[in-house]
This record gives sequence, structure tokens and C-alpha cells, in this order.
Amino acid sequence: MFGWHKEDMDLYSINYLHAGHPKFWYSVDLRDNKKFESYVLKKFPDEMKDCPEFIRHKNTLIHPRNLMSQGIRMKKAVHYPGEFMISRAAAYHSGFNSGYNLAEAVNFALPSWISIGKKAGICECQNDSVKIDMTQFEQNLKLQENATVNPENSVQPSPMKHEDLGDE
Ligand SMILES: [Zn+2]
Repeated sequence: MFGWHKEDMDLYSINYLHAGHPKFWYSVDLRDNKKFESYVLKKFPDEMKDCPEFIRHKNTLIHPRNLMSQGIRMKKAVHYPGEFMISRAAAYHSGFNSGYNLAEAVNFALPSWISIGKKAGICECQNDSVKIDMTQFEQNLKLQENATVNPENSVQPSPMKHEDLGDE
């Protein structure tokens, strides 16, 4: 079971189910993110005081029925082996596995994510929280774009020296 959360830095995620029992997913319609957040704030004021980003701890369980009763629009999906599930940038989701299974997931970004990533909250109470310096990210992206348009401007990484590899 995985509690309600958004991905780190409000990134997209893609999840592939290789084998085993289906995964059940619940997701909040992006248009109702604010409604969801104010419901969570009302329901968990103490947790919110301790960490304003506590929802990222992935341990908050709320029955989808309770959310729907607040007028929060939801989608449910059953994810079978051989299928991909994509969660959109900043989309709240939760779910559970109906039995043992084997899945693989990774976060990803699209150009449209940049403005979302700049606004993403970061949990400061856990020291392994994912942080992306968006200023640096945009600089790197511009350098890369320049290199693609004018390949002669591209900066080649210098070859690694043997000493850099450490003990063998
Ligand atoms: Zn936290």
C-alpha cells in the first residue's frame, strides 16, 4: 500500500508492472489539487505543523470515498502486468497491490514540468529528500540546447584519468 503523495519535485512518474498481481491506483483530478490540500490540512493539522510537506512521507491514508464526499474528483485504475501507468506532474495518487508483484518505476520530466518543478515543495524533515536546483537545471538545459543548435559550441567532457577511478 502506498499513501497519498505527489512525486519528488512534483515530477511525472512511469511505472511498469512486470508480473504478478494487479496494482490499484487512485488519483486526484489535477483541477482539484487545492481542494485536496485544504482537506488534508483540515484533517491533519498536527502533521502539517511538523512538516508542511508531510504528504510526501507517503504514509497518509484517506479513503477515496471521503475525498469524493468533499467534491474532489477522482479516478481509479487497475494496473495489470504488461501495462504502464503514468502519473502526471504534481498529481496526487495512492494505491495498493492486490498481491505480490514485480514493478519498476522512474520519475521523468517534460519541458512543461519546469514551471511546476519551480513551485514544488520539499520536505525538510527528512535528510534524503530529493532536491533539484531549478536555476542550475535551467542553465544546464540552455547549455544543452545551445550545443544541439550549434554543435561546435558543445563542451566535451574531459576523459577520465586512471587515478580518478580509485583502487582496482
Ligand atoms: Zn517532512
